[in-house]
Amino acid sequence: MMEVRNVALVLLLGASSLALAEDLTNVMTYLSQFGYLPPSVRNSSFGELLSPETITDAIKEFQSFAGLDVTGKLNNETKHTMSSPRCGVKDKGFRTKTRSKRYAHQGSKWAIKDITYKISKYPSRLSRSRTDSELKKAFRVWSDVTPLTFKQRSSGPVTIEIRFERGWHGDGGVFDGPGGVLAHASFPSNQGSYVHFDDSEHWTFDSYRGTNLFQVAVHEFGHSLGLSHSEKESSVMAPYHRYQPNFELDEDDIAGIQALYGKRKKLTPYKPPRSPKSPGDGNCKDETFEKVINNIKFTIRQRNCFWSFLS
Ligand SMILES: [Zn+2]
Ligand SMILES: [Zn+2]
Repeated sequence: MMEVRNVALVLLLGASSLALAEDLTNVMTYLSQFGYLPPSVRNSSFGELLSPETITDAIKEFQSFAGLDVTGKLNNETKHTMSSPRCGVKDKGFRTKTRSKRYAHQGSKWAIKDITYKISKYPSRLSRSRTDSELKKAFRVWSDVTPLTFKQRSSGPVTIEIRFERGWHGDGGVFDGPGGVLAHASFPSNQGSYVHFDDSEHWTFDSYRGTNLFQVAVHEFGHSLGLSHSEKESSVMAPYHRYQPNFELDEDDIAGIQALYGKRKKLTPYKPPRSPKSPGDGNCKDETFEKVINNIKFTIRQRNCFWSFLS
C-alpha cells in the first residue's frame, strides 16, 4: 500500500527518487495532521484512495492558508514552512471557503465570564513561580480586551487545565520533541478545556532563542476561549510561532475575541457617596458687586451655590 502511495506521489510531483517520495509521505502526514487531508492518510493501510488532484488541492490550500505562493507544488518555501515550529491544532475544519483572511471561531464559547485555571503538571526545566507568572501574563492579554477574568487555582475543578507533557499523553495528540509541534489546546466544551505544552521544548522568556512560553500561551489560550487559527500572519492566532519582542494583540485577534465575549467595559470614574448631596451643576451663580472699605473701592466676585438633595 505504501508503495502505491509513493508511486502516485512520484507521478504527481515529477520526482524520480524514492527518497523524495519518502519525503512526500511525510508531507501527506503533515497535511492530514493539520486538517488538509483526511485523518485516514496517517493509517498505513491507506494510500491509493487519494487522487493526485486531491493532494495538489491540499497543498494549494495549505499554501493559501500559510500565505505562500499557491502553486500546488512542493517547493522549498512550502517545505520550509512545513518544518517551522507551530501549534498542534488543525488549521482547517472550522471555516468556510469564502471568508476573507481574518480570525476564525471554532463555534463554541464559555457562557461564564469568570474563568478558572490550574497548572496540573509543571514543566521539568522551568521554575514554578516563573511558569505561573508567564501564564498569568498571557491570560491578562485576553482579559485586557474582554470582560473575562482569569483566576489560578491549585486544586479542584477548573475551566482550563494546563499540563506540560511529552510524546503521547493520552488525548490523541503527540508531542514530537524540540521544534515541530509546540503545544495544543482544546476548545470550550462541557468538559472544560485543556492546554498542553511540549515539555521537551526549550521554553524561554524575552528572547529570540528557544520558544517563547508567554506568546505560545497567548495563542493556546485563544483556542481555549474559542478562536481557531487565523490566516492573517500578524495575528497571534496564526499557527506558526514567531517571536515578537514587544508583543501586542493584532486588531484581528481583538475583533475575534470581542465578537465572542464583547468588550471590556470602561472603568467608570469614582463617584463620592450622594448623601449629603453636593451642589449640582447649574446650582451655582456668580455675582459681582462693589464694596467700599476705608475709602477704597473693591470689586468683589462671589460664587454662590445652594445645596440640593437629589433622590
Ligand atoms: Zn493553534
Ligand atoms: Zn495533549
